[in-house]
Amino acid sequence: MQPESEPKPEHGRATRIIHNRRHKDSLGSPYSPVYNTTTYRFADTASLQNVIEGRTSGNLYTRWGSNPTIRELEQGLAGLEGAEDALAFASGMAAISSTLFAHGREGIVCIGDLYGGTQELLTRHLEPLGIPVTFLLKNEYDQLAGALNRPGMLVYCETPANPTLEILDIRDLAQLAHAREALLAVDNTFASPINQQPLSLGADLSIHSATKFLGGHSDITAGAVMASAERTRPIAVWRKNLGQILAPETAALLSRSLRTLPVRIRQHNDNAMAVARAMEGHPAIKRVLYPGLPDFPGHRLASQQMDGFGGVMTLELKGSQEQTARVADSLRVFLLATSLGGVESLVSQPCVTSHHGISRQERERQGITDSMLRLSVGLEDVKDLIADLQQALERL
Ligand SMILES: *Cc1c(COP(=O)(O)O)cnc(C)c1O
Repeated sequence: MQPESEPKPEHGRATRIIHNRRHKDSLGSPYSPVYNTTTYRFADTASLQNVIEGRTSGNLYTRWGSNPTIRELEQGLAGLEGAEDALAFASGMAAISSTLFAHGREGIVCIGDLYGGTQELLTRHLEPLGIPVTFLLKNEYDQLAGALNRPGMLVYCETPANPTLEILDIRDLAQLAHAREALLAVDNTFASPINQQPLSLGADLSIHSATKFLGGHSDITAGAVMASAERTRPIAVWRKNLGQILAPETAALLSRSLRTLPVRIRQHNDNAMAVARAMEGHPAIKRVLYPGLPDFPGHRLASQQMDGFGGVMTLELKGSQEQTARVADSLRVFLLATSLGGVESLVSQPCVTSHHGISRQERERQGITDSMLRLSVGLEDVKDLIADLQQALERL
């Protein structure tokens, strides 16, 4: 049999993720078997004790993260963002909550728009537990240094942000955080590892809802954190004790998805750019918010820190909330659904979905209007997506 293929550091990202494999077998299968097991047999009590007490490495119990299928996924995830280590979770919120518990206890300063679930976790759960939480808008950036008023705090952000696609300068945020002895965590879900590498820009922790682009087919719920082993170690303890591990079956599905991530993201980028260009200047559209458009306020910064502009955009229509809903309801190829990052295109109206729990006044403060539609541009033929939007906009 041909010798085993081995991903090498000099290989490109697509080569490395396709050949990411920890377990060799004698059958010649190019991919590892799925270890659907919760526990592991030992030869004798002494060797079990050696593993429990950390003298030798070995698998003990899957909830702890010691499962070959999950570890292989984590090795692939780490490689995608040039991280020393990665942890996989049962959801994006599991990844976010364990990270905030492990690294946010001295206080968390959030800058820019946040995913609704993260906002709710911070205000309804972490603040009542006594963790100081500060929320700053992007235009309150100059207050950030002052808010980091003791060592060991955590700066937390998303870029591009939901649904305004606002761009934050990761390099600048990292310098600012580190000067104040704080860490920087970036939710990299919207960009994906192919379009943005937060760790190489100076961030300490990169977080994903793997439910979105990493999974890519709207069929698995999962999460991930990429960081140095020093930073993942305390997060893994929270994951273990909160019971947030994902199932080995899900880990295997996510590993399969990652093998097509580079090519999927390239097509999401191309389709979204074509849709954005086609919608720009349409008489029914007030603004197209997409980082790839030269007129978008964050375009220059996005061009510097991103390798692609992603598959998500927001259209602001010239119409009321009801008229905007009518356009969404008239789409036939775009599915009316929340979430993003799948092969199928989705549409949602932020004021009635992701941001319905926030008052109109607060939404306006964040620049979110009732006539916005967020699009997750999928991998269909782009002419069909554009034609679908054009016929629906005629209903305005
Ligand atoms: C979806 C999402 C999350 C939450 O992920 P789940 O997998 O649903 O738990 C967090 N952050 C962002 C930016 C998201 O889009």
